[in-house]
Amino acid sequence: MAEDTNKLLSAVLAAMREGVLIVHSRMEIVLYNDAAARIFRLPEPTSPVGLPTKPAQIPVKSAGGLSDANRQPAVSGRQSRLRLVDATRDPAINDTFRKALDRRETLDARLEMVGSTIKCFYLHVSPLGNDLAVGIFSDVTELERLERVRREFFANLSHELRTPLTAILAYAETLLNGALDDLENRRQFVEKLHKHASRMKELISDISDLSAIESGAVKLAPGPVRLRSVVADVIALAEARGRPSRVSLRVSIPDDFVVQADRSRLEQILYNLIDNAIKFNKEGGEVTVSASERERKVTIDVEDTGVGIPESDLPRIFERLYRGDKSRSRKAEGTGLGLAIVKHLVQAHGGEISATSVFGKGSRFTFTLPASTSKAEEENDAAPSLAPLI
Ligand code: ADP
Repeated sequence: MAEDTNKLLSAVLAAMREGVLIVHSRMEIVLYNDAAARIFRLPEPTSPVGLPTKPAQIPVKSAGGLSDANRQPAVSGRQSRLRLVDATRDPAINDTFRKALDRRETLDARLEMVGSTIKCFYLHVSPLGNDLAVGIFSDVTELERLERVRREFFANLSHELRTPLTAILAYAETLLNGALDDLENRRQFVEKLHKHASRMKELISDISDLSAIESGAVKLAPGPVRLRSVVADVIALAEARGRPSRVSLRVSIPDDFVVQADRSRLEQILYNLIDNAIKFNKEGGEVTVSASERERKVTIDVEDTGVGIPESDLPRIFERLYRGDKSRSRKAEGTGLGLAIVKHLVQAHGGEISATSVFGKGSRFTFTLPASTSKAEEENDAAPSLAPLI
């Protein structure tokens, strides 16, 4: 019976995502699970269950502490007791266990571990009696990153909304304070009012679009869509909006490529990518839209010879409201929401999107969509339905 329980506990410990260390008051590790072995680069735990009352003999292969390859092995010899401070190389961990054991109370700590990347952990230590304490290490790196992104989003959002609002108030006050009678300039003031109000509207409509897509409230209606005809429609729309006057557009997509997609959402994806490729291009530059098909997946590339994206910005461009190099981006119109919307729409289609770029030379956005098993129907080649979406 006890053996069954041991086996069960052993399996639970091995399956846990959190690292578990059991430490004796001599500050030696009595037991650890697989996750702790991964975190601290310890040898695989041999028998994690059956709590011994004295420190376990832990076979040591190369207990090199956290991550630094140049470190000396934490302990030497074929069999050795593993000291907590040697295994973790972090005095804060040692302190937390020591305090919890001395005071016989539960303690929490936040730790940063520097390896090839910085990882953040929450450590929760509880005394177990018998001179032992258990510490649970939860990796919160991703959670903290998301929280940071969320905080930045709200800070950026209020900034983005406040800027046009401040301008609207200023122009309205100027008009009320007498400029209404200034026949020469009043039209110009009203035009400015209109411009800033339009920008606010654009921002708010992008945000509600994004949150609807993110929350799954937007239902896609996928069907077979002939890729080349959608790209042609999007380019025609961009041309109608006077976009590509400075750049030349090339399309290299076989006529028979049919993807399984919601046509209007696919137009939205392509419009955002093509519009950016034009907007961030150089005078006389090029934009190329091409596609290839492999294993029932169509890969679409939108490539430009524009200003490019600095390497440091590249991982962040799909974040909400993120805009690259501020001075450059501010000149180009946009909300910084386009790529976040595009990413969610591509994912909602079961595809993936990525970007590569050489700063100063150009960028390439690549996304995938499932290939359709049936032929595109005539009705899918109907007029584009983009207008309300962009
Ligand atoms: P917006 O275009 O409204 O600023 P996006 O979400 O579409 O917002 O793009 C976010 C940022 O990514 C842009 O501000 C720009 O810095 C960068 N970016 C996007 N596409 C390109 C591109 N083709 N070339 C260079 N930079 C780009």
